[in-house]
Amino acid sequence: MLHVEGMQGESTAQKKTFRRALGDWFRASARDLPWRETRSLYRTVISEFMLQQTQVKTMLPYFDRWMQLFPDFETLAKAEEASVLKAWEGLGYYNRARNLHKLAKALTALPDVPQTPEAWQALPGVGPYSSAAISSLAQGYAAAVVDGNVVRVLARITGNRQCFESGAEAIEAIRPAADAFLDKQNPGLHNEAMMELGALICLKNNPSCMICPVQHCCRAFNEGTAESIPNIQRKKTEKVLVERVLLENAAGEILLRKAPHTAKRLANIYEFPTAEEVKVSLTGKALLFKGSRGIANQRIEERFYKIASDKQLEAHIAGDSLLEWICEDRLEEIPLSGPHRKWLGKVIQAIEK
Ligand code: SF4
Repeated sequence: MLHVEGMQGESTAQKKTFRRALGDWFRASARDLPWRETRSLYRTVISEFMLQQTQVKTMLPYFDRWMQLFPDFETLAKAEEASVLKAWEGLGYYNRARNLHKLAKALTALPDVPQTPEAWQALPGVGPYSSAAISSLAQGYAAAVVDGNVVRVLARITGNRQCFESGAEAIEAIRPAADAFLDKQNPGLHNEAMMELGALICLKNNPSCMICPVQHCCRAFNEGTAESIPNIQRKKTEKVLVERVLLENAAGEILLRKAPHTAKRLANIYEFPTAEEVKVSLTGKALLFKGSRGIANQRIEERFYKIASDKQLEAHIAGDSLLEWICEDRLEEIPLSGPHRKWLGKVIQAIEK
């Protein structure tokens, strides 16, 4: 067992041993992923944006499809926002798609590609995580990436039992350790290896310590505290109820609402309108079905009611530019939120009953 003193108290030899073991493991065990087969700045940027808050297995088909639709920054910069959002449909956190689009426009207007994390952070949607990932993975810049996986690995390696009030606080607290452990000769490989170790071996529950390449450097393993580290206070899940309406007009079109471009989360994404948005009462209306979705620390139950149209309602709809009658053929083309796309079949069945 290599003695690890704490965040930054390790000897140069100890850190060197850690880096070597991690790097050797990654070279031998890294998953074959499309952005690793052919590396480029563009593929790194797209994969890093897609991987924020999304698991690899979920985003893989999206990555391949995206590359066919938008093979480079220039094509993406020229694309319509609706087609960018459509390609992102189902991945959630749509601000990532909007920011990618803005980033492509800003980047293609620059005379030179940014070369440092600071320069990358001047571009839309690029924060400390993305700037370190892009500049280290694609450009070899010595910047340490700190995400949830890296926090977990390094908190355990250093035996950090501090209680964090949020993931963001944990990231800031672990950043000095990430800088201290970074392999400055191979920053891209080191960062990828850290994230890979957190994703495959150093799991939140039941970490695979017995096959871990850095077990000999791990204080939490030695002390038997791995599963209780890092200690991040989780916010309580809040239960929310949303009541939505299914409405069809005489032409067989369905009523949907496009969230305004100022909306924080789902700007320009379509969903079935709520009873409040259409200004109808649901008293006495039969529930057709219900679904549930999770957003951040909320568990949202969505209840769907079929309602009949009348003159007053149609006048209200006609006066609200966010409400749109959509024919069945167009339903496939428009960007619909992931849960509403999933429930669409049930909705159509319910309307046709
Ligand atoms: Fe994580 Fe276990 Fe490896 Fe320590 S030994 S880094 S706790 S997997």
